[in-house]
Amino acid sequence: MSNPVHLIGAGPGAADLITVRGMRLLQQADCVLYDALVQPEMLAYCPQAVLIDVGKRCAKASTAQRFINKMLVDAASKYARVVRLKGGDPMLFGRATEELVALREAGFEAEVVPGITAALAASADAGVSLTSRGVARNVLFATARVGEGESASDWISPILAADTTVLYMGVRQAEAIAKALLGAGMPASTPVLVVENAGLPACRQWPMRLAQLPDVGDWQLDGPAILLLGQVYGEVLRAAQDGLRQFA
Ligand code: SAH
Repeated sequence: MSNPVHLIGAGPGAADLITVRGMRLLQQADCVLYDALVQPEMLAYCPQAVLIDVGKRCAKASTAQRFINKMLVDAASKYARVVRLKGGDPMLFGRATEELVALREAGFEAEVVPGITAALAASADAGVSLTSRGVARNVLFATARVGEGESASDWISPILAADTTVLYMGVRQAEAIAKALLGAGMPASTPVLVVENAGLPACRQWPMRLAQLPDVGDWQLDGPAILLLGQVYGEVLRAAQDGLRQFA
């Protein structure tokens, strides 16, 4: 039987935040197709492999995804050990379903190796639990990105109902997101934490209130960033205001 294609979570970027299983599979790979969010240091685990950069631009996501699926199937036909290395965890906003379906339809086995998702790396950097006892009993992983045929309001009501929300792919639309949430009745005082480059030495954090979130759109952020919302971030906000903690 041939080897399965492995969809591996690279974690948030640092070379030592991939799983041992993921690293071992990289060390044995013949071909590695990797994302824009994967850092060059991680590719040092697989100098023997043919490397294919399939980093896609947001604007053309759907066409690009079909192309990636095709490249993945082509690689699986050509090489014995194929790795698809994806930022964070493959199963969270990672288009894993499309790639798994494409591989299986083409007759290839596929297996997933989990990775540390950005929400967890950002929480570790901030030192704030997503579920601080007595403050938050649930966490929502969400995006405000609306796909074709979906209603624009679908993403708002779950956020209003959640104790803690982690918003992926939201920083560029920070202004529109803040306006929509405020318009739907979320208190302007809701604590928000913006974390850029979570899990990396270049990590930066900005605690603020929801009312200040629209300003984020004007910032020049270099790396990927995530928005964390909820009362659990009240503590870092107060500490920052009191000058007890330094950020950015
Ligand atoms: N599968 C990935 C998410 C891909 S969607 C995961 O599990 O993490 C891409 C979004 O993830 C980015 O827009 C950003 O919001 C977030 N992201 C990914 N890596 C990040 C990092 N190191 N720091 C902060 N946010 C990150």
